[in-house]
Amino acid sequence: MALTGNKYLDRITNVAKRLVNHAYLELSKYKINAVIKCTSAFALVRWSRHETNIRLTLDKQVLKWHDAQLTGLIAHELSHVALGAKSSEESVDRDVIERGLGVYLAIERVMSGRHEDQMIARGVDRYLGYRTIRNHLDERELEQLEKLLVHLRVYPQSKTVALEHDAVIYDCDPETYLTINGHIFTVGLIPPDASVHLIQRNNEICLVVNKNIKSCSSNTNQIRNGLQ
Ligand SMILES: [Zn+2]
Repeated sequence: MALTGNKYLDRITNVAKRLVNHAYLELSKYKINAVIKCTSAFALVRWSRHETNIRLTLDKQVLKWHDAQLTGLIAHELSHVALGAKSSEESVDRDVIERGLGVYLAIERVMSGRHEDQMIARGVDRYLGYRTIRNHLDERELEQLEKLLVHLRVYPQSKTVALEHDAVIYDCDPETYLTINGHIFTVGLIPPDASVHLIQRNNEICLVVNKNIKSCSSNTNQIRNGLQ
């Protein structure tokens, strides 16, 4: 069940608003609605061609996260919106770093067990891991990162990654583009509160929406070719 109207949602929307004001000014026209529920990924970001709302659905476990980790996750989701529905996860991560938010992305990855890059969609795309992100930080950012790691008492190490990282839904009537773990699906209407996840069936990757298989065989070439 979704949690609504409480201090947790205020915390999430405040982090998102701060990010928009400081690093994503082009998204100022959007109103951000946050929802918390049990999902198959840490985050699902959804927006539409015709409206100025960004819906951010976060998994319940992020309620335990430190603000720095939450900031890294939400920055990643805002970069999806800024770059467009079919952007690769790698380009989205690089965008976060270029906007000066790499420290937060590094914290998010180290605390979610992604020490190394996580290859997805059969190697077509990847999430940057803590080690790669670190290599892109300047001296001042590295200092800031070290301080945060000490403060959070975190020692960078690989862990088993349980949840998918995130999913993206772009409503582009009459079609909907859905990206999850580097796989892109073009499908019909997806209900507002739908749950989405992937399953492997034989050699195909299938998208499951509200427990029903909606589509199989994603088009990862769209990422490779950088189509927008
Ligand atoms: Zn993503």
